[in-house]
Amino acid sequence: MQPTGYESYSNGEIPRGCQLCVRGRKLVLFITGVCTKSCYFCPLSEQKFHKDVIYANERQINDLKEIIEEAKISSAQGAGITGGDPLAKLDRTLETIKLLKKEFKNFHIHLYTPLDLVTEEILKKLEAAGLDEIRFHPDLDDDKFWNKLKYKTKMSKGIEIPCIPKKDIKKLIEYAKNDVEFFNLNELEYADAEHNKLAELGYTTKDEFSYGIEGSEDLALEILKLYPKLKMHYCTTKLKDSVQMMNRIKLRAKNTKRPFDIITNEGTLIRGTIKGNESLEEMHKKVSKYFDNEIDKNKNRLICARNNLKKFSSKLKALNYKLEIVEELATYDQFEIESEEI
Ligand code: SF4
Repeated sequence: MQPTGYESYSNGEIPRGCQLCVRGRKLVLFITGVCTKSCYFCPLSEQKFHKDVIYANERQINDLKEIIEEAKISSAQGAGITGGDPLAKLDRTLETIKLLKKEFKNFHIHLYTPLDLVTEEILKKLEAAGLDEIRFHPDLDDDKFWNKLKYKTKMSKGIEIPCIPKKDIKKLIEYAKNDVEFFNLNELEYADAEHNKLAELGYTTKDEFSYGIEGSEDLALEILKLYPKLKMHYCTTKLKDSVQMMNRIKLRAKNTKRPFDIITNEGTLIRGTIKGNESLEEMHKKVSKYFDNEIDKNKNRLICARNNLKKFSSKLKALNYKLEIVEELATYDQFEIESEEI
């Protein structure tokens, strides 16, 4: 077992899908929240759980072509298709895989699915559409579909499960070790949503700063030590929530930054913002007398260089404008981390 350098541990090389993901090169494609299952540990938010919505990274998608835009703007070299169960909306999933494969060269796509809807025919369809890697999520409490892990496919085939303390994960590994190429064990994660029953069942987070559940990491590392010859990757909540996400957002920042934005070492953007009661066009005209600025309709404001905002603050305040220096993520929703009124 060795550390991967990305806040995770592995036996052997990590799967191709993970190699791109840890570097922020995978588009996170949530193809639907619809799922046949209602797992007590489901990490989805209320806005996504069992809802037929699509997100590419943080961007809600209304037309599949917008997925291509988001992949380009994020400098993605692949996509991880997740849900819900992507097989619950099979036609959409197949169409999206084909669309991405047609648009981009050497674009690696992996997909996560529970076993319930898997058939040999569906695997063939996914293979024909161009899917590179499939990750099955078997039910640890019910082995009735485990035989599907034996289905043959040319795609790279693995198992990905949350590492639930006290569960008999070894039983699944022994069952499937000759049928799959790799095992991904995820740190079990708490989610603040009504359908997530972990707290009710007595699971607690390992500390107040983490969503990782106490005991999950110990079990994962124990299993990695037990099976040194099997290809295994233990993925922490820190890898998912900080390393992967921040690497991905840094790449997006490079493509979306305006000439006046400052990019921090963490990949966040620092800029000035101006809000007022007039129309954005009217404000833009007035402020342009002093310095360059842009209309940002999404957040109903003007954006500009921090220095200019400071330099001309008294003139702008005389116009009754609200001035702020903000630090934001370069996500589609320009998530605000900090703001300071001047
Ligand atoms: S299979 Fe996945 S998406 Fe579906 S309920 Fe379980 S954890 Fe949630």
